[in-house]
Amino acid sequence: MNIVHISVEMAPIAKVGGLGDVVTSLSRAVQEMGHNVDVILPKYDCLNLSNVKEFRFLQSYFWSGTEIKVWVGKVEGLTVYFLEPQNGMFWAGCIYGCRNDGERFGFFCHAALEFLLQSGAHPDILHCHDWSSAPVAWLFKDHYRLHGLSKARVVFTIHNLEFGAHQIGKAMAYTDKATTVSSTYSKEVSGNTLIAPHLYKFHGIVNGIDPDIWDPYNDKFIPISYTSDNVVEGKRAAKEALQQRLGLQKSDLPTVGIITRLTVQKGIHLIKHAIWRTLERGGQVVLLGSAPDPRIQNEFVNLANQLHSSHGDRVRLCLTYDEPLSHLIYAGADFILVPSIFEPCGLTQLIAMRYGSIPIVRKTGGLYDTVFDVDHDKDRAQAQGLQPNGFNFDGADPAGVDYALNRAITAWYEDRDWFNSLCKQVMEQDWSWNQPALDYMELYYAARKLGQ
Ligand code: ADP
Repeated sequence: MNIVHISVEMAPIAKVGGLGDVVTSLSRAVQEMGHNVDVILPKYDCLNLSNVKEFRFLQSYFWSGTEIKVWVGKVEGLTVYFLEPQNGMFWAGCIYGCRNDGERFGFFCHAALEFLLQSGAHPDILHCHDWSSAPVAWLFKDHYRLHGLSKARVVFTIHNLEFGAHQIGKAMAYTDKATTVSSTYSKEVSGNTLIAPHLYKFHGIVNGIDPDIWDPYNDKFIPISYTSDNVVEGKRAAKEALQQRLGLQKSDLPTVGIITRLTVQKGIHLIKHAIWRTLERGGQVVLLGSAPDPRIQNEFVNLANQLHSSHGDRVRLCLTYDEPLSHLIYAGADFILVPSIFEPCGLTQLIAMRYGSIPIVRKTGGLYDTVFDVDHDKDRAQAQGLQPNGFNFDGADPAGVDYALNRAITAWYEDRDWFNSLCKQVMEQDWSWNQPALDYMELYYAARKLGQ
């Protein structure tokens, strides 16, 4: 099958959040199953081109009075076409955040379809993502069901329903199949007026992570390689390296890591509470986060100043985006906290488990589908063929966080053997794309059958 993703993010060259990870890792998993997968991406001036291999200029074409240069290269083994309109739309130094984002991405979607048409491509599936490439769904149906594109079907994935309601609602009407990134989130949003009329074509497929990108056995950002066989040794070395790098006290304390965009969705008030509670319990906290909203960023700068002066040896707030540091935190922390108010899927809890860190999460969306509480969820885990793998809580309030965090920290202090065996066990769970990629393929085949 020929599958083309039209996306405005792609890890690791143009990643803002989970969407970028999913485009790369889902594509790689499907390609490894023997299908052809290409990605079309804007050529931003801020692309991380050092991760693009065999990068070269391919051709130019004109659309809507603008010359569009097409570049091609390989990213993580995938062929990527980069579209660079010469009107400078993507020379803004950022992916999102321009006043005319809607116009920029609408232009990109149109230009991508035009490129496919003009280059004689024969895709079976056009896969678009979130509000930013949602226009592909209606532009295709209204203008591009022609020539090589006539048999293509559109699949639309909602990674987060919070943004771009208008575009998402419109794409839902036009797309052949729609997905969102976990089964619980699909249920949580099923009553939404954007989704409710289209439930018959709406599916929840949980995301996976790319086991090659997130691999403690082969990770250049951590001090020693480890698998589940030497998880204790590997994590000890990573914790020491993390403490060294951030200037924290070098002793074995229960360490809570938090890696997140700092937005209301991610449970900012719960994050703040958890930091104080962990310190009270004698633990260590490392937060890596950046806030798109300058007011929130400021709040955290103030909090960092306060915490670094009162508990500087046990807490570090790194208010930036730093991929290498994120790897060291996943490996060096004992726990990764994800107290989201809502979470379509969430990748950080899955990456945490791959590195033998124990997730502490709020029971919502994909967090509910992937984290099973050691005290309460044995049956629910077993129904998925798994053992319990973390700690979870319900309430979006300090008491909720305390309930899970206290149990986690107590377990760490009181029974290290049990805790270490839990780390080993979570590392052995399979949160890769093996199963989700099969689910997507089934959906692609079902889409292809429509209207034939
Ligand atoms: P979302 O897409 O809502 O931001 P996800 O959990 O789906 O959340 O994906 C977050 C991804 O972004 C993960 O790969 C995580 O490691 C990464 N990430 C988030 N914040 C940072 C940061 N400040 N520095 C480095 N990586 C980050």
